[in-house]
Amino acid sequence: MIPFKMGRVEDCHHGFPVTKEKRKGVNFMHYKLEYLWLDGYKPIANLRSKTKIVELDDFNGEVEKLPEWNFDGSSTDQAEGGNSEVILKPVRVYPDPERKNGYLVVAETFKPDGTPHETNTRAMVSTEAAKGFWFGFEQEYVLMEPSGRPIGFPDGGYPEPQGPYYCAVGYQYVAGRKLVEEHLEACLAAGLGITGVNAEVMLGQWEFQCFGKDLKAADDLMVARYLLFRTSEKYKVQLELHPKPISGDWNGSGMHANFSWPYLRDVGGEDYIKKILAGFEKNHEEHLAEYGAFNELRLTGRHETASMEKFTYGVADRGASIRIPIFTVQDDWKGYLEDRRPASNADPYRVVNRIVSTVNEAHNS
Ligand code: MG
Repeated sequence: MIPFKMGRVEDCHHGFPVTKEKRKGVNFMHYKLEYLWLDGYKPIANLRSKTKIVELDDFNGEVEKLPEWNFDGSSTDQAEGGNSEVILKPVRVYPDPERKNGYLVVAETFKPDGTPHETNTRAMVSTEAAKGFWFGFEQEYVLMEPSGRPIGFPDGGYPEPQGPYYCAVGYQYVAGRKLVEEHLEACLAAGLGITGVNAEVMLGQWEFQCFGKDLKAADDLMVARYLLFRTSEKYKVQLELHPKPISGDWNGSGMHANFSWPYLRDVGGEDYIKKILAGFEKNHEEHLAEYGAFNELRLTGRHETASMEKFTYGVADRGASIRIPIFTVQDDWKGYLEDRRPASNADPYRVVNRIVSTVNEAHNS
């Protein structure tokens, strides 16, 4: 039984709508809002989400029209049972490609006193400092059978060694394309800045790329991961973001971060880039600490990675910590750089935060 008439959305509280205004003939519509946030698990936070039904009139995805909400933080390692409420504040909204009148809502977590929760990594990024930055993430991942084997791997054995699977076509070389296609369609329908997908070096391993300005690339990446997890439910395969899910002579998964900022795009210069990269060298360990868990299993100096022991950079060098793309050199050392160190399970906000602070510090030195 619902004892109250629906009123304005901001009057909804704990599932109990409180009427302050009568509808008076306005056509209110039910919307399904899926609030997404990162939990408090360590070393890798998980995506969590839940649906809020609200009634709104004339809603076209405006974030400022959406109410704050809350959840039980004691179930997500974000609060004690005695004081369990964590507040969700919507920060960006996307149409939900699979739900009628549905939207996906990226939310930040706050404590009841209004300060950002310790696990709110998005709030760590200074929007002022990140202004003008562009990011392009290359999210690699592996699709796994529930048994823990990549899809396409034969039962109890291994497929033929790496080589033919990257950007491959054909049943003997590719596994999971139907899921990947469905995910791509969903991302485009949600308005994410997806710029491409490809089969990766290990069988069952894939990549998508997403581009955006300021914090949008990181938000888009969270939503793209969410949609990938949701699609995986349908196909009964598991999305694995571990950076080295299969040991041995099999590529791990990274989340290469391409980045640029106004001075690099407009002025640049070889000496300038070297000055910035000296700043990255100085902060190598601080970056690695923010770039995902179990990354030491991946950054070995083999399988298209640089060893994590030493910071390196090079033009067109995919075995370096940071690659200076050939396009950047050809364009008078203007353009973008690629940090190849972040792991596939990295938190994009932590990566953005670290890159932005190192670039700004080196730029001003
Ligand atoms: Mg790749």
